[in-house]
Amino acid sequence: MTAPAHVRGSADLIRAEEPVLAHNYHPLPVVVAKAEGCWVEDVEGRRYLDLLAGYSALNFGHRHPALIEAAHRQLDRLTLTSRAFHHDRLAGFAERLTALTGLDMVLPMNTGAEAVESAVKVARKWAYEVKGVPTDRATIVVAADNFHGRTTTIVSFSTDETARAGFGPFTPGFRVVPYNDLAAMEAAVDETTAAVLIEPIQGEAGVVIPDDGYLTGVRELTRRAGCLFVADEIQSGLGRTGRTLAVEHEGVRPDVVLLGKALGGGIVPVSAVVATREVLSVLRPGEHGSTFGGNPLAAAVGTAVVELLETGEYQARAIRLGGVLRDGLTDLVGRGVTGFRARGLWAGVDVDPAVGSGREVGERLLREGVLVKDTHGSTIRLAPPLTITEEELGSALAALGRVVSG
Ligand code: PLP
Repeated sequence: MTAPAHVRGSADLIRAEEPVLAHNYHPLPVVVAKAEGCWVEDVEGRRYLDLLAGYSALNFGHRHPALIEAAHRQLDRLTLTSRAFHHDRLAGFAERLTALTGLDMVLPMNTGAEAVESAVKVARKWAYEVKGVPTDRATIVVAADNFHGRTTTIVSFSTDETARAGFGPFTPGFRVVPYNDLAAMEAAVDETTAAVLIEPIQGEAGVVIPDDGYLTGVRELTRRAGCLFVADEIQSGLGRTGRTLAVEHEGVRPDVVLLGKALGGGIVPVSAVVATREVLSVLRPGEHGSTFGGNPLAAAVGTAVVELLETGEYQARAIRLGGVLRDGLTDLVGRGVTGFRARGLWAGVDVDPAVGSGREVGERLLREGVLVKDTHGSTIRLAPPLTITEEELGSALAALGRVVSG
């Protein structure tokens, strides 16, 4: 007989997953049972500082009281209608999200990949109906080393062989150019181009920050070429970099912004395509949809997330604590760290390969009570909740110092 979860230890639970779960992840050996703020607790009661924050889905920490309260209130009233009917939470959510992002209309979806898929469809339709691209000839220009999700179409324009191999045939219509290379982008854009789709900062690639002026250049280029600028802010957006959107660092307004992860407050999957009226007006009833997109619970939590961001408090914390993070990492350069890239409370840290792989560093940090995730090779990504205190961040940096220099 299977023992109830509360009497099964970590090792037992990890072993129990093996035969019954697809092996598409290789998690660190920790079994989380509860969490609050920046801290998670495993089934044996050990506590860990969470420096991954659900790949930025937990920008406000675990179980932020305002978000939990909004969810509870909504759970007690109405959870799902489908979009066959109106519900009383959706207009307010869309109004606040458009005001927050400076755009006009919202297409609510659930996961990040769905938002990207939706943007691909919308950009193509815009190209045919507004730009006048001949049927089925639309192209979308993307960047090498991108990460936009896992669907068949999205992996069709990935340059990561692990993400692609074995999943063809692939969706045509994408052109890949090097990231941070405006000349290559310009050469790839032509009269068939519906959109340029990029991450303002490439998160999964290792928090790769383009040169100053790149985003402005993409904006100017797309405007000149008469195609859309689609910014995937699913990981970079919603306060992470010290601004509501990472594109704000260059004062740029894309035609389409994709949001996800933190929009669901770490409670429910909530994503959105937020765009100008011209772009989202191409969709008419029946042409696109989602049973769960914009459901009342998602809208209530999403609204509460927007309310937190409207205060500016979290963006300010990301800037202030980002300075602490940067100083701490600067001290480690030459002591086990070969370099890092950081913006706001988000960093990609290149550990000296002699110290170990990113995975090994993650395992050692786990033993120090700190959770991080490696990206590629010896690079680890730090993305603590924006609610982390200076003291907590300091102790995590000290643990990193012990691990990489020890
Ligand atoms: N876009 C970016 C920039 C991401 O970082 C991610 C996830 O890491 C996605 C899209 C896909 O989001 P999801 O995992 O919710 O489908």
